[in-house]
Amino acid sequence: MAHDESPGAGAPTKLVIRNVGLMLSGDLARPILDADALVAIDGRIASVGRLKDLDVAGATTTIDAQGVTLSPGLIDSHVHPVAGDWTPRQNQLGWIDSCLHGGVTTMVSAGEVHMPGRPRDIIGLKAMAITAQRTFSAFRASGVKVHAGAPVIEPGMEESDFKELAEAGVRFLGEVGLGGVKDGPTARKMVAWARKYGFNSTIHTGGPSIPGSGLIDADIVLEADTDVIGHINGGHTALPDDQIACLCERCGRGLELVHNGNERAALFTLRIAKELGQLERVILGTDAPAGSGVQPLGILRMISMLSSLGDVPAEVAFCFATGNTARMRALDCGLLEVGKAADFVFLDRAQHSAGKTLLDSVRLGDLPGVGMTVIDGIVRSQRSRNTPPADRAPTIVAK
Ligand SMILES: [Zn+2]
Repeated sequence: MAHDESPGAGAPTKLVIRNVGLMLSGDLARPILDADALVAIDGRIASVGRLKDLDVAGATTTIDAQGVTLSPGLIDSHVHPVAGDWTPRQNQLGWIDSCLHGGVTTMVSAGEVHMPGRPRDIIGLKAMAITAQRTFSAFRASGVKVHAGAPVIEPGMEESDFKELAEAGVRFLGEVGLGGVKDGPTARKMVAWARKYGFNSTIHTGGPSIPGSGLIDADIVLEADTDVIGHINGGHTALPDDQIACLCERCGRGLELVHNGNERAALFTLRIAKELGQLERVILGTDAPAGSGVQPLGILRMISMLSSLGDVPAEVAFCFATGNTARMRALDCGLLEVGKAADFVFLDRAQHSAGKTLLDSVRLGDLPGVGMTVIDGIVRSQRSRNTPPADRAPTIVAK
């Protein structure tokens, strides 16, 4: 396992990626770019286009994509980290590194709720949120960006608590409903305070996930008005279809579909979003680690499931896990666009897939092979140990 103790630190870098067969932008408005090369300087995308038009001089690293697909690194909008690369939920080590091998370069915490003995008093939950924010910023397992430090609101919190947390660097709210606040009016008041101080928020939607959590129905979700409707397809127990439709129709918030949820409800949500012409609201997560375990390929599996069974083009499904999630979660990655973080995954059609191309194979329900990942312009992993292998994989060009 590789560790990066000092993200962003180090000498200036210039990464050149050439010979890209297909460039996925992450942007629903134009999911495929007419480009075969990309340059990133000091961890940010500097240019995307045709190799002959780009300034590739002075590269510190050059990657020959060998004709495979380049996509923004995948984002998991819903994880429950605890400490470093350990999860007590299924007593597992190295789960974040395993997800990197599934193409995930960024994760957003929906609350560090699996912390053994997690504090529920206000000063304790604030201390834990700040600790998680600090530790996951200072220590990146295998280079993966984990945005952690997501407090779960409890009764009695005041506006000053959110101000204090924001000043300490906390910027995400864990799932509303996993703590003692389970009523609409209190949730609405606290979510509004959080938003005022720059927080991005989410909510537990549906039945209880594990003993101790509770039911959150559509009325409470609408009243709380979080930025994201966390696992609208349940985690696992989904709301009835009429309530899911109501959530889609009566607000404009993010529609988060998770792997550890109800797959039929995910497909139902996708259909409603499509009918409304609002696919830009669809974002993906795993909700792992959870009772269902850890899914290193969870985001790829969601992309493939939604594309193949939900009848959306594969390049659109990739946008759910990249540009859409970045926009709904206010992240500076997820798009192959100048200025964005140089976080990438290289993918290709798996060996012996019935699909003729990467997109064709995903549309047929297969998983692609991950050939390499890059975070902040630095190569983090090469041929995945977890995905089915592709014939082709990118190579690092010797200087
Ligand atoms: Zn939940």
